[in-house]
Amino acid sequence: MKKTSSIKHSNGLTQADLCKAKIDWDEQGQPFSEQFEDVYFNTDSGIDESRFVFIEPSHLQERWQKHKGSFTLVETGFGTGLNFLLTWLEWITFQRSRQTVDSSTNKSQQSNHLHFISIEKYPLDKEQLAQALKLFPQLKDVGEQLIALYPLLITGFHSLQFEHYNLTLTLVFDDVRHALPQLKGPVDAWFLDGFAPSKNPEMWTSELYSTMAQLSREDTSVATFTAAGDVRRGLQGNGFKLNKVPGLGMKREIMHGTFIQSQGPLPNKFENMKPWLNPPSKAIKKVAIIGAGIAGCTTAHALARRGIAVTIFDGNGIATEASGNPQGAMYAKLAAGDATHSDIYVQGYLQALRWLHHHLEIGDGWDNCGLIQLASTEKETLRQQKFIENTDYPEQLLHLLTKEEASAISGLNMDNGGLFFPQAGWVSPLRLCQELTKHPLITLQQERITELTESESENEDQAEIKQWQLNQYTGYSHVIIACANQSQQLLPNSYLPTKSIRGQLTYLEQSAMKGAEIPLKTVLCGKGYIAPANNGSYCLGASYNIRDDETEMRLTDHQKNLNYLDDFGQEFQQLHQELNNQNAPEFPGRTGFRCTTPDYLPMAGPLVDEGTFDEEFTAVRKNLARYPRHEAKFHSGLYVNIGHGSRGLTSAPLCAELIAAYLCEENFPLAKEHAEALLPNRFLIREMVRNKR
Ligand code: SAM
Repeated sequence: MKKTSSIKHSNGLTQADLCKAKIDWDEQGQPFSEQFEDVYFNTDSGIDESRFVFIEPSHLQERWQKHKGSFTLVETGFGTGLNFLLTWLEWITFQRSRQTVDSSTNKSQQSNHLHFISIEKYPLDKEQLAQALKLFPQLKDVGEQLIALYPLLITGFHSLQFEHYNLTLTLVFDDVRHALPQLKGPVDAWFLDGFAPSKNPEMWTSELYSTMAQLSREDTSVATFTAAGDVRRGLQGNGFKLNKVPGLGMKREIMHGTFIQSQGPLPNKFENMKPWLNPPSKAIKKVAIIGAGIAGCTTAHALARRGIAVTIFDGNGIATEASGNPQGAMYAKLAAGDATHSDIYVQGYLQALRWLHHHLEIGDGWDNCGLIQLASTEKETLRQQKFIENTDYPEQLLHLLTKEEASAISGLNMDNGGLFFPQAGWVSPLRLCQELTKHPLITLQQERITELTESESENEDQAEIKQWQLNQYTGYSHVIIACANQSQQLLPNSYLPTKSIRGQLTYLEQSAMKGAEIPLKTVLCGKGYIAPANNGSYCLGASYNIRDDETEMRLTDHQKNLNYLDDFGQEFQQLHQELNNQNAPEFPGRTGFRCTTPDYLPMAGPLVDEGTFDEEFTAVRKNLARYPRHEAKFHSGLYVNIGHGSRGLTSAPLCAELIAAYLCEENFPLAKEHAEALLPNRFLIREMVRNKR
């Protein structure tokens, strides 16, 4: 039964509205869409047709030779991924040819990254995808890699990295009508698939063509299997110059062409993109990251993977502050009623899982042992039930457990059920940071940065460029501030309202326990959290102290942590009593400081120049929608990635991909509205709108 979602999405399909593809498989195993009463492809000639209609007319190889940076291809209708897999093979051929050409070729002028974005309203699930791809044994190798990373059917953006190929597939499970305006652009090539206009008139609309024009640049290509008059007129009317050619064999005609900016609609860049979202482009010369915690190390890795050398500065080395906890709980804590928040954390969680599986062996710094968010109070039980009633997430993401089920899964005698995240678990941020920073393009400089200054110098063409100096280190074109609460000292007078919240952990060593070992099998979260024993000790935490910068551990906080044990079943309740009876107990543990924001979302993005913005965009005080349609002034090449609170393990990989997308001028790994929700500038704008400054 479909559920009606009370979670409001400003855009797009709700999770409850997302329908899986309904497929009829014929005797040859060919998939037929029940929703559209049409075949996905022709089994005999599917590959030839896909090449003939989409790949060849787009002249991809030739264009990759000349296109600098990241090349973005957008497809409407992912279906079985046939076009994607064939494009991937084409990309592999191109990369091989790059390796064999003589050294006189300037490789920096060629494409170094392929971003294939595909939008799908009725996604196949993993099993259906695997079944469909069995029909193409010649695509087995890439097909299996796709199947391995293929996401759960959850609305929104899923950015999958095929690291060895410099290839990103962003799957957007949504209607083209909602998803397309959520892309940042620019798009270099369009594959217009999506069943025949006669069978699917809702997709082939005038808005589709005008949004395509807004996202295109000069010579962006378009290829489609249809030559229907409405489609031709729609594209031509929006600046696409088209050729109509006969289809393969006896098939109907097809079209391909290119976008001619001067013949298209007037670009209304700032209509679709808030001026404070996208900074002007800047050549990358030298990149510094301040802070070697989870935010800094993930960002360094996302950049290094794109071929960019980075230096991370940190006075204490890798993962020493809040990221130094031995076992952090990694899951998506979701807020019923706030779609933006939930969407970002679900996407962050799925991205983090992909990173963890890629970078760490299970048992070496992480364990996907599952996590139960316990319903220890009536209020929490009702909240969880309401949340499940109002959403329709797949069971593999989360589902409710009864008390008995929670006991069986955790291995303990629980008093309550809860919400179970079967793929979640615990992570050692240190191990993850160590692995991520092993990349040869990452250098760690053990030095605390206390001064960050901007200066101007001239480049070879005598153009003035802004540079950053970090203490005595000069010449940085780009700086990413990822040092949590210490960011405030580097950005005095800034509008970034971070708050430091002290957290103390208690380690319960198995050797010091009198009773039998407690056989905890999953992470448990109640008011606090506890993870299964690692290296002979349970990690229990964490206290929550606002306006408290005491670094020493306190017995009172250990006792507060011990109170959390009462949520974690009878075995831990008994342990709590035994520990209470001890005289002057001492516990090992550690203290860290979370860096939080008022809306509990991190800040990941560029920074506008506050003073100029205040003056030039003062109109937003009266009406946000009337913002001036011109460029905002940004701090050149300066970004922050902070405010992850206690959820950095979940949010940092996605934010790292976002920061890397800004620097490398790639399309975002998430919806534009979500990039906006993560912008540090949001707090400045909120203050202006509320006339608080
Ligand atoms: N490109 C695919 C391939 O290579 O296998 C085949 C695509 S299939 C012919 C068309 C796809 O478009 C279907 O999977 C369908 O669900 C999807 N589709 C149709 N209308 C859509 C819409 N409005 N938004 C997003 N996807 C849509």
